[in-house]
Amino acid sequence: MKSTLRRTWAEIDLDALEHNYRTLRARIGVGVKFLGVVKADAYGHGSVQVGRKLEKLGADYLAVSSIDEAVELRENGIVLPILILGHTPKDQVKKLIEMHITQAVTCKAKALEYSKEASRIGKNLRVHIKVDTGMSRLGYLCDGEGFENGVDGIVEACRLPGLEAEGIFTHFALSDTDDPHGVEYTKKQFSLFTSVIRETEEKWGQKFALRHCANTGAVANYPETFLDMVRPGLLLYGYGEYAEPLGLKPVMSVRTTVSTIKIYPEGTPISYGGTYVTDKTTRVGVLPIGYADGYLRCLSNKWHMMTEDGAVRQVGRICMDMCMVDLTDCPNVEVGSELEVFGTENSINEMAETAGTIPYEITCAVSKRVPRKYMAGGEVQEEELLLRGL
Ligand SMILES: *Cc1c(COP(=O)(O)O)cnc(C)c1O
Repeated sequence: MKSTLRRTWAEIDLDALEHNYRTLRARIGVGVKFLGVVKADAYGHGSVQVGRKLEKLGADYLAVSSIDEAVELRENGIVLPILILGHTPKDQVKKLIEMHITQAVTCKAKALEYSKEASRIGKNLRVHIKVDTGMSRLGYLCDGEGFENGVDGIVEACRLPGLEAEGIFTHFALSDTDDPHGVEYTKKQFSLFTSVIRETEEKWGQKFALRHCANTGAVANYPETFLDMVRPGLLLYGYGEYAEPLGLKPVMSVRTTVSTIKIYPEGTPISYGGTYVTDKTTRVGVLPIGYADGYLRCLSNKWHMMTEDGAVRQVGRICMDMCMVDLTDCPNVEVGSELEVFGTENSINEMAETAGTIPYEITCAVSKRVPRKYMAGGEVQEEELLLRGL
């Protein structure tokens, strides 16, 4: 849907996305497939637009967290293989098969359910087996004394009627830390993963076409883990500590405009709670962005926005729909001027750190009230507002 508001918006730079994709492709080399993670509406960037772009660029696979997210892609014409990383209720197996969606199988109970449903329909469900090598979330446990049992479970799942085991994967818990413990832990996870694969292949003759484990941290730090396919999310969008060293560009910029400017004398409390009191005559700008747009309230009095005259401090509590900035030193900034909340000028990594969180949470938090503008070649290609009935 088209937005009629010119208030606060997110620009999604499809050229930056393309650049990141190509840069990562060059990094992983030929022979390694590329799965783009587009769960959670592509980390807030818009899964349909990102999915379409990746499909056009030649990505091999997409991944989402649920069947609803997968169906959204299919209904918008995306034909790339899609892997669902989370659980799907068994009554949805028919839909998975009809829509050519690949499902993760994370334990024996799920394998049996999926097999039964697929057999009942008389068709095959394509699956990737998930191994828990130390994330302690989903997947077959194969650690220590559980090794044989885990491998048996995996082999059993692969041989169940109605299941076609195309892939096997695991997920790293500490691949994005450089400290020795993280490195040791990641290597241990990888070594367990390769042992599980070796055992299933050598002892049981079970081959997997797609063995994958490399998330963002591993794509940046552990080339030995690339195997048949890599699975980055954050890097694709150009954030996190590894993005810049790898030459990647931030894809999203959130921008807003000045709606009102007022001059207050020294000693004036600004916004709820009066947490900021002017220490001089202050030219205050009101911005139409608040925590309901995803501008986290915990950043109150802590973050700055970028203007054509440089950075301006955000002052006072961030409200639901608005916040204030000190424009005293920026006489050129007027009502209607644009400011960048985060993006190419104003680092999201720094913003996340200031908020005590990670860039993932910042882009996922950009709410549906914020229209997305898809940019390519400096032009708006598409605008979308995710509100009902507009
Ligand atoms: C989210 C997710 C990814 C991508 O993680 P990034 O850190 O964004 O690269 C990869 N694999 C699985 C299983 C995930 O859940």
